[in-house]
Amino acid sequence: MEQKRVVHPSPEMKKDDLIVITGAGGFIGGALARYFSDRGFTRIRAVDKKPLYDWYQRVPGVESLCLDVSNEENCVKACEGAVEVYNLAADMGGMGFIERFRIECLRSVLINTHMLEAAYDAGAERYFFSSSACAYNTDLQKDPKVRALKESDAYPAMAERGYGWEKLVSEMFCQEYWAERGMKTFIARFHNVYGPNGTWDGGREKAPAAISRKVVEAKDSGKLEITIWGDGAQTRSFMYIDDCTKGIDMITHCDDLIATPINLGSSELIAIGDLVTMVEEIAGVKLQRHYDLSAPKGVAGRNSDNTMIQKILHWQPSTTLREGMRKTYVWIEQQFADRKAGKRSVSENVTAFRAS
Ligand code: NAD
Repeated sequence: MEQKRVVHPSPEMKKDDLIVITGAGGFIGGALARYFSDRGFTRIRAVDKKPLYDWYQRVPGVESLCLDVSNEENCVKACEGAVEVYNLAADMGGMGFIERFRIECLRSVLINTHMLEAAYDAGAERYFFSSSACAYNTDLQKDPKVRALKESDAYPAMAERGYGWEKLVSEMFCQEYWAERGMKTFIARFHNVYGPNGTWDGGREKAPAAISRKVVEAKDSGKLEITIWGDGAQTRSFMYIDDCTKGIDMITHCDDLIATPINLGSSELIAIGDLVTMVEEIAGVKLQRHYDLSAPKGVAGRNSDNTMIQKILHWQPSTTLREGMRKTYVWIEQQFADRKAGKRSVSENVTAFRAS
């Protein structure tokens, strides 16, 4: 198996080196394709299993392929000639999705397993894997007044059932491809990413988008009420998409971080109830609140400890939540208006929950 590998000679990225991004029809993968394209990279291959017309973003000049990368042969096609591979494909969503569809989440292990091998065989120099804060030990997240999670808190392992365990096992795969085979792998544990061009409806959306949509709907209908999942006391941090793409680039090009999981998240903690207040202020409306205590709400509290990223990269995500939420709210309001007017909107064709 190892003899097949042809390692590309140059350690530096050239503008015409082939960059492969999976999950590029989705939120973060699509933003990453745009990020590299904006920086002058001329050969980007974007891959997603969704039909092309369902992609959240199509970046001009980027090769876009509809391939299911849980299939080994498709991974070989996707990785052919790749110098860098960014694996952002996963069957995922907000708490409503990952608490309900654990099997779907676990199956994403096939994606990373085949993508790693195909990237290795193709001689890729660098491989990025998008892990998640859900890989952290849930026992440490029972109090809304959390202490922020640092990288070593993933072990002893007690990850989020389904989704979190898949991430943890896939991280380990990445680490062993470096330890046993010398492929440079990079692993970021994202803490809730939000922003324009993300899922905002259909069942997979996360709290910032869901709350923005509910506020838009309330304003539109004149029924000034909102239902919040849980009691609103649960806390989270949220990272704006532009910080996420920049962080992925910095992490993947830092050799001190080879095979080393690192937090990529904001450390600005907020309770969900306060996030609702923030969106109300942005929207200029005040809503009557109802609490759905039976709805999925995830761990009580979670924040990102950014000591390691600051020490190694001298950087951390810095877009304030208010600034990012303002842009996100404006975008969702426009999406809502477009859909209402019969125009195409980003989440229009997204498959929501798959009935089992
Ligand atoms: P997303 O759902 O918008 O995008 C994921 C994309 O992967 C989708 O377009 C989907 O069609 C595609 N995909 C799923 N299975 C596939 C397959 N077998 N073959 C090809 N494509 C496939 O999600 P996102 O928010 O952009 O997340 C990207 C990555 O970041 C995922 O690995 C996710 O687990 C991770 N992550 C995201 C967040 C977040 O807050 N968004 C937080 C932690 C980790």
